[in-house]
Amino acid sequence: MHYAKPDKRRMSEEGGIKINGKGLFSKEEVTVSISKAKVNSGIVFAVNKGKKEFISARVENVSNATRNTVLTNDTESICLIEHFLAACSLLGVDDVEVITDQNELIIGDGSAVHWQDALLETGLCSDVKEKYDLNETIFIKRDKKQIAAIPHDGFKVSYYMDWEHPALGKLFVSWEPRDGKDKILRARTFGTKEENDYFEVTDRLLTLDENDFNKKLHEPLEPLYHKILDIIGDLRLSGINPLEINMHVIGFKSGHELNVEMAKSLSSANLKQTA
Ligand SMILES: [Zn+2]
Repeated sequence: MHYAKPDKRRMSEEGGIKINGKGLFSKEEVTVSISKAKVNSGIVFAVNKGKKEFISARVENVSNATRNTVLTNDTESICLIEHFLAACSLLGVDDVEVITDQNELIIGDGSAVHWQDALLETGLCSDVKEKYDLNETIFIKRDKKQIAAIPHDGFKVSYYMDWEHPALGKLFVSWEPRDGKDKILRARTFGTKEENDYFEVTDRLLTLDENDFNKKLHEPLEPLYHKILDIIGDLRLSGINPLEINMHVIGFKSGHELNVEMAKSLSSANLKQTA
């Protein structure tokens, strides 16, 4: 079946990596090329249609964060960037150019494993260490959703979920880099049957019907680890790899919109270089 085909990668002539895979919104095959960018240029994206204009993965370029995170400039939008950014944060990729032939990136199985594989092939990965101290507490609340970042020794993320559903319910998990990056990178997104049917990805992704998931979870708390993956990806929009900050980020029923607000606060936060 078309969907079950593994994502294919090949080296491009410029020495970058090309990866093909399924797009969520276009429902088409998407080709993404990933190559090294100049030092300090950050993570930049372009759509390969006519004139290529790069859009920086910065919070000021976010146009929408309701269900996924979208970057926009005057002419183009690129959807679903958060899983790629999470892989960049976890694997220490700082300066990279990403060119896609659709207005979105590849969904894969809903995790960041396809990005992990591709980034490892680029040779751009590096060890990530805390370089900054957070010298203030940031707290953001919108209705029942909250997110906080508090000074901490090391980088840590916690998430509290409260879904009225027999397969989920009230759940809490914390993660630190020493727990292993694979736990986060392989954690798949999930959607309701209605949502996933609409995008024709019910068999490809983790799908929640009224009783349970359609596939066996990698581990019981995989949906929460995916929420942490989203937080790590969205916070990269601050311009700093969040794993380089000594802080504990705590999400309480939060999603992309609050993550992006936190990225904005972090971009102007009181950060001090560690001694
Ligand atoms: Zn996600």
